[in-house]
Amino acid sequence: MKTIGMLGGMSWESSAIYYQLINERVKEQLGGHHSAKSILYSVDFHMIKQLQESGQWDEATRQLIETARYIEKAGADFLIICTNTMHKMADEVQAGISIPLLHIADMTGEQIIKQKLKKIGLLGTNFTMEQDFYKGRLQSKYDLDIVVPDDNDRKIIHEIIYNELCLGVVKNESKQQYLKIIAKLIDNGAEAIILGCTEITMLVKQLDVSVPVFDTTKIHANKAADFAIQNATSY
Ligand code: GLU
Repeated sequence: MKTIGMLGGMSWESSAIYYQLINERVKEQLGGHHSAKSILYSVDFHMIKQLQESGQWDEATRQLIETARYIEKAGADFLIICTNTMHKMADEVQAGISIPLLHIADMTGEQIIKQKLKKIGLLGTNFTMEQDFYKGRLQSKYDLDIVVPDDNDRKIIHEIIYNELCLGVVKNESKQQYLKIIAKLIDNGAEAIILGCTEITMLVKQLDVSVPVFDTTKIHANKAADFAIQNATSY
């Protein structure tokens, strides 16, 4: 079995979900007392959030590359970055290590095209909803038409992520706000919704939504587990 390297802590709330999902998947696939071989480096999110807010992306990139190198040195066979937003520097991180990086947008895009869907609503942080590193990749590599909420709704989505979900606060009132915003995206033609932030899974489930929901935390965690056990040997 391969050892999964997890660059996490962004936030630790979602890394805990990754850890659980990865182990559940390995247990489901291999049975018995099997569990995932993994190395988690959990950063101090306070520092990362400050770098994001002040636009110090070069410093954030430097720190992520350094952390990814620690994980590689510790023995990981491949890497996952347990946040959508910090895939902004995924290419630089990949270039800085010699193990493969499983990109969260690729794992998600591959699932979506299997279902032959085209116009997709994206929820995530403002960085993810507004910048090109994520939307652009889904559009150019998977030929998807990505739509995002309007200015005011993006602000609501973003603030709930940082002020509530990343702190482990899950409110029904916020869930209702998310569902209203999702309903507007569907009214505007979205055939599916990407939960493009690894904490949104705490708030919105497939059962709450009338169109397919692509939960990036679940997709990424399951792919990592599957990749780890592909051609699994006995050690
Ligand atoms: N976990 C979040 C994401 O998937 C947001 C936290 C972060 O800024 O990394 O985008």
